[in-house]
Amino acid sequence: MNAPVVIIGTGLAGYNLAREFRKLDGETPLLLITADDGRSYSKPMLSTGFGKNKEADGLSMAEPGAMAEQLKAEVRTHTRVSGIDPGHKRLWIGEESVYYRDLILAWGAETVRVPVEGDASDSIFPINDLEDYARFRAAAAGKRHVLILGVGLIGCEFANDLILGGYDVDLVAPCEQVMPTLLHPAAASAVQAGLEAFGARFHLGPVLTRLVRSDNGLQAHLSDGEVVQCDLVVSAIGLRPRVDLAAAAGLETGRGVVVDRHLKTSHANIYALGDCAEVDGLNLLYVMPLMSGARALAQTLAGTPTAVKYGPMPVTVKTPVCPLVISPVPKGLEGVWSVEGQGADIKALCHDARGNLVGYALTGTAVLDKLALNKALPPLLA
Ligand SMILES: Cc1cc2nc3c(=O)[nH]c(=O)nc-3n(C[C@H](O)[C@H](O)[C@H](O)COP(=O)(O)OP(=O)(O)OC[C@H]3O[C@@H](n4cnc5c(N)ncnc54)[C@H](O)[C@@H]3O)c2cc1C
Repeated sequence: MNAPVVIIGTGLAGYNLAREFRKLDGETPLLLITADDGRSYSKPMLSTGFGKNKEADGLSMAEPGAMAEQLKAEVRTHTRVSGIDPGHKRLWIGEESVYYRDLILAWGAETVRVPVEGDASDSIFPINDLEDYARFRAAAAGKRHVLILGVGLIGCEFANDLILGGYDVDLVAPCEQVMPTLLHPAAASAVQAGLEAFGARFHLGPVLTRLVRSDNGLQAHLSDGEVVQCDLVVSAIGLRPRVDLAAAAGLETGRGVVVDRHLKTSHANIYALGDCAEVDGLNLLYVMPLMSGARALAQTLAGTPTAVKYGPMPVTVKTPVCPLVISPVPKGLEGVWSVEGQGADIKALCHDARGNLVGYALTGTAVLDKLALNKALPPLLA
């Protein structure tokens, strides 16, 4: 029998690649393997679920059986790949070996965890997939007060969403502003002020050092001596692309699994896509890049080698109390920022030495300018 095309991961990268591939090739055997339950869902919806009062089941779009049928594929769920043997074109699931024609790593990124002292570390919840979300929702039922670790994009989105869902929210992070790696300070102030006006309390500077149970919930001890009372903690301190199995198999890794513009790793017949992939030096943990990658890689797998191209990829942040769109300055480009507007409505633009727009952050009513500005942005991968 022909060895199948094997995709590891059934997140947006894995399932979208399978869909794109099936548009071009209805015959080649296709196997998807996932460590989770294999339900199809849109991960960005995880940080809008409380505001919309959606259980995990309500965010699920299709069961793995339906996906298998739709994709004319086998979908193996709750199955963790434990090793790759590129020399023999096979992978390992424990003792079992599975041979592939082509292998696609779409195994995503994992949440960064930091050690915290105390007897309540089981009350710290990362939310990076549907099962995490289900666990957190079950734990949050009947509770009031959530402490969020991290004030990046995801931390701010969860703050907005949890307040919409009726929770009190504190945020703690060892930095001076929200989204420090993404946002101009003027835009960051606008977002923070919007969330504060909505009820969020920020503790910028310290870290959580100890989490202990108390008579009425949890006590979160911060490194500056402050103690925050809460019922649950959400960890949103960052994601790290999964690279360990790839590195152990001898594939080149950097921040992610290193791939070229054809999404090919350093080994023939092995590709990477989505949060785990570092494409031509770019590891972008967003949906638009993986959709472009899925279309290009499907062509390659179907016999037409196709390089991926990225246009400008602005990100709309789901903080409706302070609308925010960001187009981060691409790696390798530099520029000078200028800021217009005030209060909630900030237009921060970054131009290079020739006067070309290379990035922006828009808040409040300034987001209305995004379509016009997008036309002036450079492509991320031409
Ligand atoms: C809360 C939240 C909100 C977001 N909002 C936005 C947004 O608004 N806009 C945007 O562009 N992006 C957003 N993102 C980012 C975006 O959702 C991700 O970039 C994208 O979903 C990543 O998809 P993926 O398929 O690469 O990874 P994942 O969805 O993480 O899928 C990884 C898959 O690999 C499987 N896997 C891992 N290891 C193994 C193994 N060893 N064996 C077998 N299977 C394995 C997992 O079970 C899973 O099926 C958000 C992310 C989060 C967490």
